[in-house]
Amino acid sequence: MTSIETSIQDKVVAFHTLGCRLNFSETGTIARGFMERGYAVVPFGEPADVVFINTCTVTDGADSTCRNLIRKAHRSSPEAKIVVAGCYAQMEAEAISQMQGVDLILGTSEKYKVFDYLGEEERQLVKIDKSQDFWGAATSFGEGHTRAFLKIQDGCNYICSFCIIPQARGRSRAISIDQAVANAKTLAAEGFKEVVLTGVNIGEYEATSGEKLTDLLEALFAVEGIERWRLSSVEPNTITDELLGLLKASPKFLNHFHIPMQSGCDEVLTSMRRKYTVQEYRAVIEKIISNFPEAGIGADMIVGHPGETPEQFQETYALAKELPLTHFHLFPFSKRKGTTAANMQNYVHSAAKKERLKALELLGQAKLDLFSSDQVGETSEVLFEKRDKSGECFEGYTSNFVRVFVKTDSDLKNQVRKVHLTEFLNGRLMGEILH
Ligand code: SF4
Repeated sequence: MTSIETSIQDKVVAFHTLGCRLNFSETGTIARGFMERGYAVVPFGEPADVVFINTCTVTDGADSTCRNLIRKAHRSSPEAKIVVAGCYAQMEAEAISQMQGVDLILGTSEKYKVFDYLGEEERQLVKIDKSQDFWGAATSFGEGHTRAFLKIQDGCNYICSFCIIPQARGRSRAISIDQAVANAKTLAAEGFKEVVLTGVNIGEYEATSGEKLTDLLEALFAVEGIERWRLSSVEPNTITDELLGLLKASPKFLNHFHIPMQSGCDEVLTSMRRKYTVQEYRAVIEKIISNFPEAGIGADMIVGHPGETPEQFQETYALAKELPLTHFHLFPFSKRKGTTAANMQNYVHSAAKKERLKALELLGQAKLDLFSSDQVGETSEVLFEKRDKSGECFEGYTSNFVRVFVKTDSDLKNQVRKVHLTEFLNGRLMGEILH
């Protein structure tokens, strides 16, 4: 595992990351660069020489959280060089440059070049580049992580009405197979046993790299030392029979998917400019389940897209209930300047959005509880991550992404062990190690 040497370091850096897994994996890459240059990493909020905030702009809430973090960083480290990078920096560089304490603003491509600017004294330095370089290496870092994230794609060519990401991260581009394999070998050498392939729209890998996604996956699954592979979110219209066939034939691929749904109503999907119908979404989920009957399936849903009527929301609710979805990722619609939806009419009142969100939250929790309790009596390979808060148990995830707790005194961190799932108690799936 990546460890932090502290003896020879005289400089410290603190990080804070907001948003998606891709952002976290990119922070991992940048943190690695700092450590290679002799920096120690300290928790955000502690005094540091450099504070690096990797931002998100997916909602209004993310923007205001970024601004609060910048203020907090300046309070806790008034002398630090504060670097604000990523999607919010890309979209709102001018506004950020007015904030006290900010020294350097780096866009989504420029964020990796932070080291070029560390020696500069000048404040309010805005570096927003539209060149869209691709940086492939990306991984978790620090002591608490057992799962690595390997970036294989960035950017998006779609035009979903609500989404600012294509503007923040640019056109779709992808890593080469050779580079991805080299990065995976590095992760294996560092002791990672599980890797999540990540990107903005990884199903578009093939369209933008010129190489086939299935060829990339075959090459990656052959990397020795990585025992478990997952895919992050995959757009439903990019799931092909060939892809599912390859995944099914690969013992290292875990039966866990994340397929954004967004709405269960065709009119709303059209208004969102999504690339599938309800029927096509249903068909994809059914195909996944026919190939992976025990799969955990996550789904994003947005409530309160402009014009969404109570009846249309009910269609979403009914589809979410009907399909074997296990992990809900729910978002109230948030108006983003520069998106198509920002100019739409018929905004849904925030009270109605809250109500719809609550209904789906309850449904999602009930479905996850049922999915978890249904696994009692079965056996699963679990990658253990950390001791739980009580200190009595070690916790980790089953292949289909259910959190499992095992009572033990042993240190199971980063071990993959066969676990008999014994009971579902107070919302926790409990298990015993099989020896
Ligand atoms: S697929 Fe749609 S929601 Fe996803 S990043 Fe692209 S534009 Fe945004």
